[in-house]
Amino acid sequence: MDAAAPAARALLAFWRAAGVDMDEAEAVYAGAPVTPAAGDRQPVQRPALREPPPRTAPKLKASVNSPVDNARALAAAAKSVAKLRTAVAAFDGCALKATARTTVFSDGVDDAPVLIIGEAPGKDEDERGKPFVGRSGQLLDAMLAQIGLSRDSNVLISNTIYWRPPGNRDPTQGEIVACLPFVERLIELTQPKLLILTGKAAAHTVLKREDGVMKLRGRRLSYTREGLTSPVNAMVMLHPAYLLRQPQQKRSAWADLLLAETWLEELGVARTGRP
Ligand code: URA
Repeated sequence: MDAAAPAARALLAFWRAAGVDMDEAEAVYAGAPVTPAAGDRQPVQRPALREPPPRTAPKLKASVNSPVDNARALAAAAKSVAKLRTAVAAFDGCALKATARTTVFSDGVDDAPVLIIGEAPGKDEDERGKPFVGRSGQLLDAMLAQIGLSRDSNVLISNTIYWRPPGNRDPTQGEIVACLPFVERLIELTQPKLLILTGKAAAHTVLKREDGVMKLRGRRLSYTREGLTSPVNAMVMLHPAYLLRQPQQKRSAWADLLLAETWLEELGVARTGRP
């Protein structure tokens, strides 16, 4: 006898008693392959297959959402950056969380006029629970200071991924997609005067463009998506970790900083050490 059959029948009876419309469920059960129990290879008598009822609105809703659906729901429910931070910490839909020590969400001022988004936390960030605190973070801080920006007063820094990928490998597409609703919600909640994307990964993820970073950097861009009250000024900069490896690119980085400074001046963004 099919070992699973009594359990399946009991479940059907339970659903029926609970008032669930069983037509569809019974049709599925009747058509499902039945695995013979070990030691019992008799042909199995199956209930006659019924015509499934015409497809109308489904009576039973799937209760298991995808990680991306969960991320979207959690992100949408967060009405402030603080709540979004809590939501990210509670989110279990990105496998990287299992291997990381900490959740690295943001550092700086929650309602800052400048939002900087990088790629993913590294070892130092994972240890301290804050983005950009290792060598590349120190270089980033020094660059920002040149144009009157600082995470103590007018900058909020975050990443496209909130957990360190093991061995600093590149995040997978699945990991990026699972975190993206939080990234998009952060932009929506902060509506920054200027969004700065550091490096290729952040540029591609947020702008959804495949152009090389050398083509995207040094330009005035605009970020927009449904839910934003108005487009957000955006620019791409070379990633400080790249600059540490390729110091000859510092000239381009300097040009990017000057562009950011000019733009912030035009936008009337208050900066430290500036009149
Ligand atoms: N690189 C990033 O992109 N983000 C960090 O937080 C640290 C290094």
